[in-house]
Amino acid sequence: MSKLVPPHGNGRLNPLLAPEAERAGALERARQLRKVPMSSREVSDLLMLGMGAYTPLTGFMDEADWRGSCLDMKTAEGQFWPIPITLSCESDLARGIGIGEEVALVDGDGAIFGTLAVTEKYAIDRELECTNVFRTADTAHPGVEKVMRQGAVNLAGPVTTLSEGHYPETYPGLYYRPADTRARFQDLGWTTVAAFQTRNPMHRSHEYLAKIAVEICDGLLVHQVLGALKPGDIPAEVRVAAIDALVTNYFVPGTVIQAGYPIEMRYAGPREALLHAVFRQNFGCSHLVVGRDHAGLGDYYGPLDAHHIFDQIDKGSMEIQPLKIDITFHCYKCDGMATGRTCPHGEGDRLAISGTGLRRMFADAEPIPKEFSRPEVLDVLRAYYDGAGST
Ligand SMILES: [Zn+2]
Repeated sequence: MSKLVPPHGNGRLNPLLAPEAERAGALERARQLRKVPMSSREVSDLLMLGMGAYTPLTGFMDEADWRGSCLDMKTAEGQFWPIPITLSCESDLARGIGIGEEVALVDGDGAIFGTLAVTEKYAIDRELECTNVFRTADTAHPGVEKVMRQGAVNLAGPVTTLSEGHYPETYPGLYYRPADTRARFQDLGWTTVAAFQTRNPMHRSHEYLAKIAVEICDGLLVHQVLGALKPGDIPAEVRVAAIDALVTNYFVPGTVIQAGYPIEMRYAGPREALLHAVFRQNFGCSHLVVGRDHAGLGDYYGPLDAHHIFDQIDKGSMEIQPLKIDITFHCYKCDGMATGRTCPHGEGDRLAISGTGLRRMFADAEPIPKEFSRPEVLDVLRAYYDGAGST
């Protein structure tokens, strides 16, 4: 009997990836079906469904679930789900698709990733989705822009995932499904596990957050976004190497696991923080570190909005708990990392730590203070920026 937090919903993981022995045959049959192209975000959601990260969802949402998720963060059956998981389709293509028809879901290159048994076709109110999920309908927000640009009709129904794409081969030893992380946590004897979401290399501020989590929980899952990011973000393989350098040199062996997962960020701030929590529960995590501006972008969200939203949802919405940690910085007077809760000093005594600041220092060839980032991490990043600069 596992002592880990149970999966979201009915307590059983629900991976929708076809068993390996059936996949080749199912792919062969899917080639005969009508093909529905997916955006890269939709592919990433199909992969998340496939691996069981979106347990207990069984496919792409129908209109009632979409509306409930947008307005009340609940499916029609009352299951807590903070961001709609939907599949869009161009009107011309949707018109020809019958209810009950099985369609093949393909990526931008035409590769089949799964099948959908269509139960419903519906048009959404994009403005309603964006103002609820993103708190803005501004198309300069990349998450909003994708919703505004998607096809006019949503297709709903149960899915079967038939491919995990390049991920298992590209990231061997990093691509763990929820059943895999749960097995590893159990092998290590962990009961409480904190997830640390990242789409950046880890600097001293991230290290501080991660170490607070290790003080409280049996172990830490450093969980990398492997899906598409926004332009200018550091590629996954560089982030992985930088985090390896940090974990190897600055954490006690056996307290940290690094893994990656295939989501594409929506940058929905507070709502996305809730989604991150829900699926981390499926990965077996009891806690999610929520720092400053979690899953946010620009000035769309207040720096601690993602903390506050955990207090606004119904009690019992999920079992995983947020570890809310205030904005972190190095304080020269405290002579260490601190937050507004632990450091009484002023702005002038503090060194703010941000990936943007670091990029600027690299670009200007400025020396980077040790309070900012560990030298082993900087070595990895310097090699990347030097390489990127010379091409
Ligand atoms: Zn201080």
